[in-house]
Amino acid sequence: LSDRLSEAFKNFKGQGRLDEKNIQAGMREVRLALLEADVNYKVVKDFVERVKERALGQEVQKSLSPGQQLIKVVNDELTELLGGEQEGLNFTKGKLSKIMMVGLQGAGKTTSSAKIALYLRRKKFKPYLVPADIYRPAAIEQLNVLGKQLDMPVYPSTTEMNPVDICRDALSKAEEAGCDVVLFDTAGRLHIDETLMDELVSIKAACAPDEILFVADAMTGQDAVNVASTFDEKLGITGVVLTKMDGDARGGAALSIKSVTGKAVKFVGMGEKLSELELFYPDRAASRILGMGDVLSLIEKAQSVMGEGEAEKLTDKFRKAQFDLEDFRTQMRRMKKIGSMSSIMKMIPGLGKLTKQLGDIEVPDKELNRIEAIISSMTMEERKKPKLINPSRRQRIAKGSGVEVQEVNQMLKNFEQMSKMMKKMMGGKGGKGKMPQMP
Ligand code: GDP
Ligand code: MG
Repeated sequence: LSDRLSEAFKNFKGQGRLDEKNIQAGMREVRLALLEADVNYKVVKDFVERVKERALGQEVQKSLSPGQQLIKVVNDELTELLGGEQEGLNFTKGKLSKIMMVGLQGAGKTTSSAKIALYLRRKKFKPYLVPADIYRPAAIEQLNVLGKQLDMPVYPSTTEMNPVDICRDALSKAEEAGCDVVLFDTAGRLHIDETLMDELVSIKAACAPDEILFVADAMTGQDAVNVASTFDEKLGITGVVLTKMDGDARGGAALSIKSVTGKAVKFVGMGEKLSELELFYPDRAASRILGMGDVLSLIEKAQSVMGEGEAEKLTDKFRKAQFDLEDFRTQMRRMKKIGSMSSIMKMIPGLGKLTKQLGDIEVPDKELNRIEAIISSMTMEERKKPKLINPSRRQRIAKGSGVEVQEVNQMLKNFEQMSKMMKKMMGGKGGKGKMPQMP
């Protein structure tokens, strides 16, 4: 998006404010980005109108180009629309709390029940799991397996029992077991149907849950709106869990659901493992939906750690492929201050894509120390000209940094690959690439 926006704003360099014309051009790209992220088209239309209104007549901050300024407005508005602040679960310790998980089949209810239970245990709650999906084969077993894995009590449901009875009875069983939060893993269907809704309404009436979390698969995109609003009308959901955000989905569903139901996303599922649950942060989600590196915070962060002008030099080095191992080490040390390697890369427009392509050569954060040790065992000459590092030098470096020689080889290979990719992504040739200029 940033690339596209810079393109759209090329002709407006030097203009001091956002006006009808340059906003129009920029918003075309924003609209496309939102639609690509699977945001519902009606939601997109409203959103674009709001941003136009807000952006019109704004003075462009000195340090920003009109394109960056518009991105900022879009980003702020999107963050606000997504809920502004992170919203936690709405109950307190000291009484039996109840969470009801609802949603279509395969959305991730059972998995998320276990994930939230784990999350709550880390907050010193004592969770109790209740399998209330008696229809889907093996659904009860699935939650039992997860419960065992977590070493948490699970209500002994059977397929002969009635789901409403299960949930009601589970409340007293949970208290007997000394637990203080109950998670009802209810049934889903492939599509919404009356019988299912009636059952869920009865469970709600019988148990009076504190939270009714609608679980939505981030990949479902446009459809999510209708499903979410039906569940909300019938049940009055209190929040949303957006699952499978570890996939390609940009998470446009979060915006659509929030706009239509007014209910915020509270958690995101980031993988199949039970630890892969994150709190939902609207600002981060906004950047992801727009598919852009968080340009502004990069600028801020880069300036705070690097000092002005240095960021620009660095970008230039990437582009000209003059980025050497010494630069790498310097940056790595800075990265430790700013955050992880990948979070840095995601912040630089254009490099977000790169982190994906890099895949297995992306540096896990805990590797940073080891890599730093390897580079520190090189001479300055070697760092400036990695080509010099022949097998006997590799032996020496390995010894000096206390690693196997294969690890030195691997590190050098990764570095070379990375340099090549960066050069390519930055447009090469040392001319002005497509990368937006940092101030
Ligand atoms: P339910 O029918 O709503 O109970 O859905 P399940 O909890 O059984 O999940 C359906 C499938 O989605 C399972 O294979 C899960 O492992 C998978 N799944 C759930 N949440 C996530 C997630 O956040 N990321 C990924 N990659 N897979 C998930
Ligand atoms: Mg299930």
